[in-house]
Amino acid sequence: MDSNIKLANSTLTTCPYCGVGCGVVATPSNVTGDESHPANQGRLCVKGSALHETLVPNGRLLRPRVAGEDRSWPEALAAVSGAIRDSVAQHGPGSVALYLSGQLLTEDYYVANKLAKGFIGTPHVDTNSRLCMSAAVAAHKRAFGEDCVPGCYEDLELADLLVLTGSNAAWAHPILYQRMHAARRTGRRVVVIDPRRTATADLADLHLKLKPGTDTVLFNGLLAWLVRHEATSPSYIAQHCSGFEETLACAQDVASSVASVAAQCDLVEADVERFYRWYADIPRTVTVFSQGINQAVAGTDNCNAIINCHLATGRVGQPGASPFSLTGQPNAMGGREVGGLANTLAAHMEYDTPGAREQLAEFWGTDQLPEAPGYKAVDLFEAVHRGDIKVLWIMGTNPAVSLPDSARVREALANCPTVIVSDCMANTDTTALADILLPAAGWGEKDGTVTNSERCISRQRSFLPLSSAARPDWQILASVACELGYARAFQYQCPADIFREHAALSALACRVSEGRQIFDIGALAQLTDAQYNQLEPTQWPVILDDVGEIEGSSRLFSDGCFATDDGRARLVPVPVGRPCQSVTPRFPFVVNTGRIRDQWHTMTRTALVSRLLTHRQEPSIEIHPDDAFRLRISDGALCQLIGPGPEPFLGRARLTSDQRLGEVFIPIHWNGRFASQSVATNLIAAVTDPLSGQPESKHGIASLHSLANQWQARLMRRKSSNDLRDLAGFCDYWCRQPLAHSESWWLAGSKTVDWSKDATIWLEGEPQLVLVDSAQGRFRAARVVDGQLEAVLLVDNNVELLPDLVWLDQCFASERLSSEQRQCLLAGRSVETEDMGALVCSCFQVGDRQIAKAISRGQTTLEALGQVLKCGTNCGSCIPEIRELLQVELLET
Ligand code: SF4
Repeated sequence: MDSNIKLANSTLTTCPYCGVGCGVVATPSNVTGDESHPANQGRLCVKGSALHETLVPNGRLLRPRVAGEDRSWPEALAAVSGAIRDSVAQHGPGSVALYLSGQLLTEDYYVANKLAKGFIGTPHVDTNSRLCMSAAVAAHKRAFGEDCVPGCYEDLELADLLVLTGSNAAWAHPILYQRMHAARRTGRRVVVIDPRRTATADLADLHLKLKPGTDTVLFNGLLAWLVRHEATSPSYIAQHCSGFEETLACAQDVASSVASVAAQCDLVEADVERFYRWYADIPRTVTVFSQGINQAVAGTDNCNAIINCHLATGRVGQPGASPFSLTGQPNAMGGREVGGLANTLAAHMEYDTPGAREQLAEFWGTDQLPEAPGYKAVDLFEAVHRGDIKVLWIMGTNPAVSLPDSARVREALANCPTVIVSDCMANTDTTALADILLPAAGWGEKDGTVTNSERCISRQRSFLPLSSAARPDWQILASVACELGYARAFQYQCPADIFREHAALSALACRVSEGRQIFDIGALAQLTDAQYNQLEPTQWPVILDDVGEIEGSSRLFSDGCFATDDGRARLVPVPVGRPCQSVTPRFPFVVNTGRIRDQWHTMTRTALVSRLLTHRQEPSIEIHPDDAFRLRISDGALCQLIGPGPEPFLGRARLTSDQRLGEVFIPIHWNGRFASQSVATNLIAAVTDPLSGQPESKHGIASLHSLANQWQARLMRRKSSNDLRDLAGFCDYWCRQPLAHSESWWLAGSKTVDWSKDATIWLEGEPQLVLVDSAQGRFRAARVVDGQLEAVLLVDNNVELLPDLVWLDQCFASERLSSEQRQCLLAGRSVETEDMGALVCSCFQVGDRQIAKAISRGQTTLEALGQVLKCGTNCGSCIPEIRELLQVELLET
């Protein structure tokens, strides 16, 4: 059966990056936004619009490998099942663990959970979704009785007051940011709460640049203020809530006055008052919260402090009025639906839900279900480190980079007797530590469903044949189940078989909860294969209407009836939650971490697209200019952050008053494949929120220093050249950018190099063009074969003088280097192209200097700039930066 929905030879599918869950119209050579998809209505951000460029064989894992050798599937499956069987026999089922990913499809997740909990009998099944939003899950359960997001994306447009807290949506959820921006209107207010001024603050009428870790104070203060000003809804509280009095008492204790809140949060009193007044006066309020709220040791309390204010004002599940948790990953919610978190059972059933274990055991036909929850992510890897876990199966994620204290995680993986990794990429920091590698299907090959941040289930459809020996994850899992002797329970022929079972289980879970459970897609359990293939985006819970049509639910709890035992929502007293680590004289800087605009997670997919590497070419450290001045760090200097852990973070200084004094920001994406020592999680301690197990990934401590390098260089080689990493061991710092035509490396070192002598090694041959300027510490050399550029080495301590990356890469595409190109390579500037400055628009490769020039020539609106330079006219991800340039340039003139 054709599993695709075809649209003039295109396939309707979904983007595999963030939790917005945009619909995509895809062919192997092009993608556009799906106008019929409710999440994006035709828009795509820069990552989504470059998806087709990731459909390349580069770096794919194409064959199973066991102990470093290529193997057939039967051999690999025998190795996996043998390791699991032996471990269970010798050490019990708890010696086996699965670590899953929000990148997996719901069907993959379902089979993984069923195999692990239902048949191997281990409770240790957790997922990288633990790292991004498990605090919101725990808070939803405490407040509403179930892990449910009450609102929908339309609410972000309907709200008259939009509060964005701990969310740089402009970069992390770009299409939702664009929707919020497009909904701007007279009288609508936007408040952004973030210790940094991010691109999202472009939207703000009020930016509260609060001290990190004081979110509970600000929202407790809001609750107390609302009560003082009689701005709560006593009737809603009386009819639909419990816990109000205790919660208020706690809030009044924590934040007795606006002055006290302002002092604790390091904010201006009038700004706090203004925020509170707006909140009181504007009933249609949505509070969007994301990783900045979740990734804290008090993450669950942070979320509940926000929800408390919404409950006290009756603003839950109403059009334009709800708390709204934005999910990081494309299928974090789908994973939670099936029980992908170690503390849940399956289909939103908890271990302690009366009757759940018995009913689930009967449904699956097993007597192996564990009795108690398993290890959450950080504890799971600690158990691996202790040696308690003997077989660890990791699917579609890179914990050697993404988990806190990642040096210890790498140590744990290195010492684990059997590490199995299913991935579509061959070379990641985690696959490097695997004993068994299983090639998984990638985006475009996979077929199933995902659920986005607004509970919307969408099909992710395949439109490409499987690469070589790659297989869908659900098939790999089912094959292992068969090898282990559980074939009867894993007789799936296609993803639709799994989905139907998953849907039927949700209906059973609702019966077990005696109708209280909200997550219910039982109406989809009877879908035929064809109906499954045609399934349109649908928000759960799903019912069949009077004429048997599928009907989703955009909002929850609108009637004030919640999923708790007594049907009432719970306000939760939230004490002050401070970050675990405080700065010390030895580690005087607070380290914040987060995403950048054009990269995704550990770059395995986005780094395949060279234009996505040009907006931010290197790991950076964003520093307040006054801190930099004090430490004599100049903009663009190489620096290192040293934390209490064993490894530092190296990056290039970006001086910006967007940072607060004494605080720095680093990106989460770089890893051992792309840079020498730039893994952000090395600076993050393995401390977690005790309620949710979510790590405190937004808060590290470190000292900041200039890197004592004597020289800096850019080395570029034709794409097919040998890997440079062995040679790069000679450097104190390296960072690699795989581009369209070449491989580019930033290098820096403290050891003296005789460039004239050693250039041959770096260039893999004799250079034909050479320029030496010893006085300036400058050296240029290029190897040219038959007129074509093969390699170029540019040594200069002033990296600003080097030609820009895009121009250099284009030189490798020239069949014959022109005399001007040769001249520029040596002179160090591109005379053929205008100096574009720092890249702003990735789609059309437009830099800040070009934009500034156009503004000075009279293009003083976004539209005018778009007409002249095209910047901002495709995906729109760069629009906040263009607006900021407009503001700065117009202020200066
Ligand atoms: S916002 Fe961008 S990354 Fe996120 S789902 Fe949409 S297109 Fe993909």
